[in-house]
Amino acid sequence: MASVETADIVIAGGAGMGSAVAYFLKSLGPENLRIIVCEPDPTYARAATTLAAGGIRQQFSTPENIVMSQYGFDFLRRIDEELAIDGEGPQVDLHVVPYLHLAAGGKDVDGLRESFELQSELGAGPLWLERDDLRARYPWMTVDDIDAAVLGGPREGVFDPYAMLQAFRRKAVSLGVEYRPAAVTGIEPASGAEGVTVALSDGGRLACGRIINCAGPAAGRLAALAGLDLPVIPVRAHSFVFKVEQAPTTDLFPIIVDQVQLLNIRAEGDMFLAGSPREGELVDAGDNFAIDYDFFDTELWPMLATRVPAFEAIRMTSAWVGHMEWSLPDANPIIGPHPDFPAMVFVNGFSGHGVQHCPAVGRAVAELIVFGAYRSIDLSRFSYDRIAAGQPLTERY
Ligand SMILES: Cc1cc2nc3c(=O)[nH]c(=O)nc-3n(C[C@H](O)[C@H](O)[C@H](O)COP(=O)(O)OP(=O)(O)OC[C@H]3O[C@@H](n4cnc5c(N)ncnc54)[C@H](O)[C@@H]3O)c2cc1C
Repeated sequence: MASVETADIVIAGGAGMGSAVAYFLKSLGPENLRIIVCEPDPTYARAATTLAAGGIRQQFSTPENIVMSQYGFDFLRRIDEELAIDGEGPQVDLHVVPYLHLAAGGKDVDGLRESFELQSELGAGPLWLERDDLRARYPWMTVDDIDAAVLGGPREGVFDPYAMLQAFRRKAVSLGVEYRPAAVTGIEPASGAEGVTVALSDGGRLACGRIINCAGPAAGRLAALAGLDLPVIPVRAHSFVFKVEQAPTTDLFPIIVDQVQLLNIRAEGDMFLAGSPREGELVDAGDNFAIDYDFFDTELWPMLATRVPAFEAIRMTSAWVGHMEWSLPDANPIIGPHPDFPAMVFVNGFSGHGVQHCPAVGRAVAELIVFGAYRSIDLSRFSYDRIAAGQPLTERY
């Protein structure tokens, strides 16, 4: 049997979340803290972080998500200072673009209004728009079926998630974090002591005080290695890039979240990017990364043309499928130790909005581990306790 190495903390998964947690642990923790990040794919080809659209918004219905995005936006704005190495700062190409949430029908409009008020209270600066306001502002959009909308404030936009991941990783390594190109394949409670022994795909074994689950869409499978039930599954999300014959507008194109048709659209240079959760898609995707081109032709394109008539004449140029790590009970993350197995710390279930939360979650998890409590943003409501108690905390967007 391979000899057992020791570490204070093992992080399973070294993409956006894993690398952010590693960096903040090194910044806040004692200098000699030994952290090993196990990441089987150094190319990150299938990581959600790499395949994400890179949007950051404050339009959420859960206050913690709004506050985390506010911190995230500010962190990304000064990332060249925060994560500089020897005076060289990384760039993540952050651009300000507001989100535009469209809603119709009493229930959805009431929900939108409630979230709008919450966002206003928290200083997000959103703007409430009625159908006539929309018509005046966006004459290139069909809004006959829309009752109301919210346009986001100044701290919303897009950035390059892969560049952020690499910036966290490089900074973590510069502070002494070790990355090992191996998957975690087994987790056992340590005999006679607190902590766990972790088995790796390269045959190695690591004894550590804590294992932090940053396995993204594979988080449920990782938890199962320790016999734990984590209701997080990989869910397929399509992204289609297309060219348009005649641009609908020369003004800034907002990031449209069309809750009526269940459709997202944003401009990407002189191209556009669209995605939609497909009907019945909230199922475990396993290893299925196949692209369903029929879905674009038969469902997505008609929806695009319904909302923006200029999108009748388009040419799709590329597409990909990524897996979102979906939290089945409530589309909100599950963060913190398992109550019966505190050596496993969850950082999971971000349900399509995690990449923007990497800075805030990384800092919060590091605080929880180093100080035993959250100090800046209180994420206690995201703990596993709500899952165990069957009390979901639903995020609407
Ligand atoms: C198409 C798409 C669009 C999205 N758009 C946005 C957006 O606009 N804004 C936003 O905020 N969020 C968005 N998201 C969500 C966001 O990408 C995720 O919430 C976030 O990137 C999760 O980061 P992560 O590090 O937890 O997971 P991942 O990036 O998936 O990383 C998990 C890592 O764990 C590793 N791993 C897996 N199993 C093991 C194991 N057994 N041992 C060790 N390592 C393991 C994997 O190799 C992987 O590198 C989008 C997601 C998708 C799929």
